[in-house]
Parts: sequence; C-alpha cells; structure tokens
Amino acid sequence: MKPTHIEHIGIAVKSLEEAIPYYEKVLGLECYNIEEVADQKVKTAFFRVGQTKIELLESTDPEGTIAKFIEKKGEGVHHIAFAVDNVEGALADCEAAGVRLIDKAPRGGAEGLSIAFLHPKSTMGVLTEFCEDKNKK
Ligand code: ZN
Repeated sequence: MKPTHIEHIGIAVKSLEEAIPYYEKVLGLECYNIEEVADQKVKTAFFRVGQTKIELLESTDPEGTIAKFIEKKGEGVHHIAFAVDNVEGALADCEAAGVRLIDKAPRGGAEGLSIAFLHPKSTMGVLTEFCEDKNKK
C-alpha cells in the first residue's frame, strides 16, 4: 500500500451554517458540495485546497459519532483520509500489521467514494480513513 495523497481532512463542527462562512469568507475557499450521509448520521460540506479537501462534519443525530466526539473533545480535527488505489488491499495490509480496523470491508462514503476507517487506538490517536475513488477508474 502507498497512499497517493491526503484525500481530505475531516473536521467536526457544531453547525455547518456557522462554520462555512469562516472557510469561505476568511480563507477564501469555496464550498462546492453539501451532502448528507444518512448511514453515518452526518451532513458534510466540502472545500478543495489543491489536491486535498476539507470535509466539515455536522451531526444529524445527538447519538451520532460526530455528536459524541464534540461532546467529549469539542469541535476540531476528527480524522485524516488517505487516498489509496485499493481500500480492500490497504485494509488487508493493516490487518496483517496488527492494526485494529473499524471497518473490515469498504463502505460507501460521501462523494461516491469507497471508504474504511482504522481504529485510533492502533494509530497513535489519529482516526484514519482510506478512500478510493472508483469513479476515476
Ligand atoms: Zn472522511
């Protein structure tokens, strides 16, 4: 496995409506997509910064993982996502290396990506995501 780049950085926010103006008006980025991922109980907003995206995450459910994260740690960086050519292969490599997986198999994420998460207990506290863009193939 060799990640090609940082696909995105996921940031937990209380409110997209409050967070988006900072990224747009202060940083000068453009929100090009807002999407709800019902499966993960989040609403996401995306900004491109070169090859990398910023993914803002607002919980749509008080019991959702983003709501719980904010409750415990406050708003802030939630996860880092690496772009890989093959999520299944990347998971197999990690499992073979003794890394704990959250997802044993890829699932569908925002923007039609195939995604999977590693457990932060095995990655020095960084919730790590792999993304594979099947549309690009
Ligand atoms: Zn993500």
